[in-house]
Amino acid sequence: MRTWAVRGPGPIGTGPLVAEDRPRPRAGPGELLVRVLACGVCRTDLHLAEGDLAPRRPGVVPGHEVVGEVVDVGAGADVARVGRRVGIAWLRGTCGRCRWCRSGRENLCPSSVYTGWDADGGYAELAVVPQHWAYDLPPGYDDVHVAPLLCAGIIGFRALRLAELPRGGRLGVYGFGASGHLTAQVALAEGATVHVLTRGEAARALAVELGAASAGGPRDAPPEPLDAAILFAPAGDLVPVALEALDRGGTLAIAGIHLSDVPSLSYQRHLFLERRLRSVTANTRQDALDLLALAGRTRLRVTATPYPLDAADRALADLAAGRVTGAAVLIP
Ligand SMILES: [Zn+2]
Ligand SMILES: [Zn+2]
Repeated sequence: MRTWAVRGPGPIGTGPLVAEDRPRPRAGPGELLVRVLACGVCRTDLHLAEGDLAPRRPGVVPGHEVVGEVVDVGAGADVARVGRRVGIAWLRGTCGRCRWCRSGRENLCPSSVYTGWDADGGYAELAVVPQHWAYDLPPGYDDVHVAPLLCAGIIGFRALRLAELPRGGRLGVYGFGASGHLTAQVALAEGATVHVLTRGEAARALAVELGAASAGGPRDAPPEPLDAAILFAPAGDLVPVALEALDRGGTLAIAGIHLSDVPSLSYQRHLFLERRLRSVTANTRQDALDLLALAGRTRLRVTATPYPLDAADRALADLAAGRVTGAAVLIP
């Protein structure tokens, strides 16, 4: 089967992603074999290819927004799932025994493993997933448009929950790519006022079209103080900017897995008056189930740009250069 693998991480211009022909994978005990129908391109894939995220396995196949049809099951897995459409997300295994797993915080499990980092992902024609980590997908979305929900949607949803936006509150969204544009819609559907702060005319135009109350540049002050903000851009220098835009008692959640260094903060200007700063780490299965159920109830407008699987390197280069509006999605 055709795949892409990360060989020698480095700047995307140096070609860290290599096309490879590999033998067909097999479903092991408790696993499903999935024929990939679409795979979203996440910024984490770019961090992995460029080495911002330390490689865990040489030659790993990236891709953790995988939509596919179950074509085979391993020993002990549910045969009834053959023929069904499932989604494979970032988190794909936890120990189930540690204190984080036992307290509803499996996303913090020290033994957690990830699709497209510890195990091969969806930049391929076939993929394998433990059946407990394969999600049923909401109807009403085609393969290309449901794929970005699996990381951009789920992680943004968790970030929104951790940002503790009050009902009808004012939310700032810093960075408006795949995750930002989905999360803004979830917040709008829940009655929030959303201010988008991002570079790129196309992204700002999309924000207004989707119902944002304002759309400005990343360093602009929003037109009113924010009850909560989410930083999607991987830019640490926006942390003080976003903290300063918060009202008293507001929370800034950082959604990404990688962030450039945060400049020094002034306690008075950035944190005093009980402003909070918190990171967001992966997601629990419950977050995924909640977001996918919400997407089934509320029609999210997923802006996606399809690329053939053979153009995965070009899709990552476009993402790196800020040339993708919404989400890039690979189609085998
Ligand atoms: Zn991701
Ligand atoms: Zn655990």
